[in-house]
Amino acid sequence: MNILVLNAGSSSLKFQVIETSLDAIQHDTDRTLASGLIERIGSQALVTLNRHGENGKPEKTWKSAQALRNFNAAIDLVLRWLVSDASEIPSIKSLADIHAIGNRVVHGGEKFTKSVVITDDVMRALEDMIELAPLHNPANIAGIRAARELLGVGVPQVAVFDTAFHHTLPEHAYLYAIPYQYYRRYKIRRYGFHGTSHRYVAYKYRKMLGLERTNTHAISLHLGNGCSACAITRGDSIDTSMGLTPLEGLVMGTRSGDVDPAVIEYMALKEGMSIEEVDSVLNRLSGLLGISGLTNDMRELLEEEREHNDRRARLAIDLFCYRARKYIGSYLASIAAANPDVRAVAVIFTGGIGENSSEIRSRITQGLEWFGLELDPEKNQKAVGGWAGCISKDAPPSDRPSLKAYVIPTNEELLIARDTLRSIENIPQRF
Ligand code: ADP
Repeated sequence: MNILVLNAGSSSLKFQVIETSLDAIQHDTDRTLASGLIERIGSQALVTLNRHGENGKPEKTWKSAQALRNFNAAIDLVLRWLVSDASEIPSIKSLADIHAIGNRVVHGGEKFTKSVVITDDVMRALEDMIELAPLHNPANIAGIRAARELLGVGVPQVAVFDTAFHHTLPEHAYLYAIPYQYYRRYKIRRYGFHGTSHRYVAYKYRKMLGLERTNTHAISLHLGNGCSACAITRGDSIDTSMGLTPLEGLVMGTRSGDVDPAVIEYMALKEGMSIEEVDSVLNRLSGLLGISGLTNDMRELLEEEREHNDRRARLAIDLFCYRARKYIGSYLASIAAANPDVRAVAVIFTGGIGENSSEIRSRITQGLEWFGLELDPEKNQKAVGGWAGCISKDAPPSDRPSLKAYVIPTNEELLIARDTLRSIENIPQRF
């Protein structure tokens, strides 16, 4: 089955076409046929389209700038390219060769605890949820509508939610300590995001070690532009660092992560800003960018620190690593308290930074030898560019529970494609 995976942002669209089947899922042989990114939809859009080769990696790229008014125009362009002779994708000759669509949807609220086939009822529920995710869900809904208009209702569509993996959070982890009526009335609580990524890497870890689901305990750190940590025990998410929105938790590219809420009123007062303006500062001008005053890009910050000994670049990196380390410590406590008999916990690094920066991994884990977490410098160094495996020193057998670090590249699109197939076939979605 060829599945078109759509990830619609406020003015961008990422897509992949993945060929999968129940047999391919079983043997991990699903294959990406094409991928792409369209940025600045609504004006002169930047279009990147890739055909992938036998090994699943991009083998030919087309780049262009084109006026694209909206998501309909962007998805129309993708579909026309996919079926054209120019793209030369052997198994896609016409639109009939696109069998289903998997959509990333950011917020599923309390209603969606797993991926679902999109019906009119599901669409209504997604619209009701816009208030919870005003920055994200409208784009996801626009993508679903555009795909339905262009491919027709005969092509099934599935919604895969960033929040769903975290539906197992216990009340004590998801409630804010504010008057309970605000939860009851407005569902103000922590939902968590990046769930598809945390679920994917924890599943890969379990497969890599041949563990039972019930023996899978991990702290996963998704470190990209957006960053979040997740405490996983017995295969379930029991805590995560993002909250009602993706603003809470770790230091991110442009988001502050945790701040005292009183900061908001004080900034508004001092700068004469509205609440919306302060919110925008916390979302768009904070994090690595805000502290360094230079960039939200970790690679550039590391270079500034190395080449120019830039104090603010170093400070931004230090804040980033310190916050991540604090979350490791706190989630170790959460996991240990949930399972007094736990024998092994993995710290899993993923996302652009987690998968590629040995420097950041080593700075985050500094001082955690006391917990038994000690990186092997050589293994850590070579874990870049898609490498997956353990980067901890080999430790002699011991009675103490083990804490080891892993690098596992995430692949949210693959999990979306697999969930799409499983939802359509009505078979359980595996962790
Ligand atoms: P997104 O969250 O938008 O998907 P990514 O997961 O691609 O983002 O992560 C982007 C971040 O990864 C950027 O800060 C980028 O600088 C960082 N990154 C990518 N490669 C490296 C590297 N080799 N060293 C340090 N940071 C890197």
